[in-house]
Amino acid sequence: MTHDRDYLIDGLSALVGVAHVLVEDAAMAPYLTDWRKRFTGHALCVVRPRTTDEVSAVMRFAAEHHLAIVPQGGNTGLVGGSVPLGLGHEIVISLTRMAHIRTIDVESDSLIVEAGATLLTVQEAAQNVDRLFPLSLASEGTATIGGTIATNAGGTAALAYGTMRDLVRGVEVVLPDGRVLDLLTTLRKDNTGYDLKSLFIGSEGTLGIVTAASLKLFPLPRSRATVFCGVASPQAALNLLQVMKAQAGAALTTFELMPRLAIDLAIKHLPSIRDPLANKHAWYVMTELSSLEPEGAYALAMRLMEGALESGGVTDAVIAQSLAQADSFWALREGLPEAQTKEGASIKHDISVPIVDIPLFIDRVTQELKVLVPGIRPFVFGHMGDGNLHFNLQSPEDMDPREFMARASDIHALVYRHVIEMKGSISAEHGIGQLKRSELAVTKDPLALDVMRQIKQILDPEGRMNPGKVL
Ligand SMILES: Cc1cc2nc3c(=O)[nH]c(=O)nc-3n(C[C@H](O)[C@H](O)[C@H](O)COP(=O)(O)OP(=O)(O)OC[C@H]3O[C@@H](n4cnc5c(N)ncnc54)[C@H](O)[C@@H]3O)c2cc1C
Repeated sequence: MTHDRDYLIDGLSALVGVAHVLVEDAAMAPYLTDWRKRFTGHALCVVRPRTTDEVSAVMRFAAEHHLAIVPQGGNTGLVGGSVPLGLGHEIVISLTRMAHIRTIDVESDSLIVEAGATLLTVQEAAQNVDRLFPLSLASEGTATIGGTIATNAGGTAALAYGTMRDLVRGVEVVLPDGRVLDLLTTLRKDNTGYDLKSLFIGSEGTLGIVTAASLKLFPLPRSRATVFCGVASPQAALNLLQVMKAQAGAALTTFELMPRLAIDLAIKHLPSIRDPLANKHAWYVMTELSSLEPEGAYALAMRLMEGALESGGVTDAVIAQSLAQADSFWALREGLPEAQTKEGASIKHDISVPIVDIPLFIDRVTQELKVLVPGIRPFVFGHMGDGNLHFNLQSPEDMDPREFMARASDIHALVYRHVIEMKGSISAEHGIGQLKRSELAVTKDPLALDVMRQIKQILDPEGRMNPGKVL
């Protein structure tokens, strides 16, 4: 065994350089535990290739020696997909040394980038040529392009620009046997058979390693207006969404819902957070408008909010008067997961349902949960414009955290039953990973699961790509 291990590590070191094969426990530790610290695994080593050729050579070596592969980007995933299980000979392949922008083509609004570049790097590169790359997540300083493709990330601008799937023109992928599949097109139109790139978007590292991507760029907005509104109920928020979509169209880039509890806990736990409005409201909407006109967004926000206040659609509203104020609204929104953690035990769901059903869903599920666990505190927030809620539940104030967490499976079952009844999704944007594998098995259409398994069998017949994830 020792001889085998040394032999394998020597072989991998010969391919990428000894400095880029990590074997010491302390060096490997950050790669073996996920962001939420829920999953920790073991690996033979962590390999950090610099080029697509190196990834290909490592994958060929792994195929020859029957090694399992765990692709990893920024390790910010929330479902335990990027860390090994440690069941056998798994190697983590970290893409973070592959972080170069290969080309930017302003005329065709395209950018080709290596998979290990962070999302922030791509946003900044686009901005430097007067373009926008619109995907935006709180983890963008660390999350990579490969990871956002592999999870089909959504984020706060998906309402206007779609998820990562809508922003990718092509990908370069190293297959489990080491062959390089070059689908790195910048074409807007290409109807030459099956859309193979889409197979890898959202595949969570189970079919191959994304080594580069061709991404779409958009005109850079000249103005933005960030608005915080108080609303009476999720139904009032839904009505506001419909009015804003009808009147602002593609200028409406963000529409986030949150309850009063979210504001209370953000103020309680995050020192920089202030109440955005003078009075308390049952629910809040944080919305953002973008415009290609220098003053356009503010004027549009004014017009929409005056109308909404007049009709009673919102009970109060404030439009950020400065970049600092807009940033403070975003800090509140993006600080909600931290506020939840600091408050204590919570049980989380990343679900979507048809947008029209959101008020009914919140109402029905909340009522049933309050019967199941008296005192439970619903902390339901998220991307309402996409039908995507982080349906999170904070422990009752007087309940032992272990007792609350012991109810997790009953709570999940109740929430997912309603999600499936409403033809929603048990994972709107975070993926399946290890966390939701058993739930996928019982909630996904059996034929769809069968087709997924057949695709996996064709590309990865030995099941070496990210074992124990998704399927
Ligand atoms: C504070 C915070 C906020 C977040 N907000 C959002 C949000 O608003 N919307 C959202 O969608 N997500 C969000 N996330 C989740 C996470 O940031 C995204 O899932 C992101 O896409 C993961 O990117 P990563 O590079 O960290 O991938 P990792 O965590 O390293 O990996 C995620 C999955 O992708 C696979 N993978 C990684 N790189 C590759 C590659 N090159 N080729 C093949 N497979 C690969 C891994 O095996 C794993 O299964 C948030 C996370 C945090 C911590």
